[in-house]
Amino acid sequence: MPELPEVETTLRGIEPHVVGKTIERITIRTDKLRWPIPTEIKRLLKDKEILSVERRAKYIFINADIGSLIIHLGMTGSLRVIDGKTPVQKHEHIDVLLKNGQVMRYKDARKFGCFLWTKESPHGHDLITRLGPEPLSKEFNADYLFRTCRNKKIAIKAHIMNQKHVVGIGNIYASEALFKSGISPTKAAHRVSKAKLELLVKESKKTLKAAIKQGGTTLQDYINPDGAPGYFAIKLKVYGKEGEPCPNCAKPIKAKMIGQRNSFYCSGCQK
Ligand SMILES: [Zn+2]
Repeated sequence: MPELPEVETTLRGIEPHVVGKTIERITIRTDKLRWPIPTEIKRLLKDKEILSVERRAKYIFINADIGSLIIHLGMTGSLRVIDGKTPVQKHEHIDVLLKNGQVMRYKDARKFGCFLWTKESPHGHDLITRLGPEPLSKEFNADYLFRTCRNKKIAIKAHIMNQKHVVGIGNIYASEALFKSGISPTKAAHRVSKAKLELLVKESKKTLKAAIKQGGTTLQDYINPDGAPGYFAIKLKVYGKEGEPCPNCAKPIKAKMIGQRNSFYCSGCQK
């Protein structure tokens, strides 16, 4: 599924093509994604200018003066700006046609994404207010993470993947950051030392930044020729490498389900 770096890259990809542009027409080809698509956006956004775009967690906000679209790519979604004459493919559910002839096209095969509308600030929307801090913000630091870990017997990996504590650290990034910090993914959150949490915060940020940087240099690669979202090829040390030798100590990498997610780690290097 598109993770935070892919969403950030999508945002950076569409931004120069939509900000300052005026909407000609919105076409909706399905009733609902995860939730019903508000059809009033066709009327409300006609002739309106897109003033800005923003990302919060894995949501994209498209802001006009009368309100904002709140878009999520779900498991399989993509959003791209292409020539308005490009034939519509299967699963391409929404077109935001701009007056310059380009179209911002939303595709989502499994329909777990969302395309919502709010007249208020999107930051105040129910889906958004319950989210923890951005992983790359100053708010996400060792002091903060240490506080959230107090009295939590849940595995540290599940803890940092909980969007209430910090957003956007998906399965791949959690596995990699825990490996680089030498923390076992199964360790109870309250038993991880503050020094280790400091390392974990640092490695989480580094891993995400590397993926975003990679996305920036290979922007087109995110959408494969068939229009399906791809993944940034960051160098992975443990994720998906069960049975392969650990790059540090050569012990075989283990795999284990934690919080319904497959987790990869080295029992020699991660305590
Ligand atoms: Zn190892």
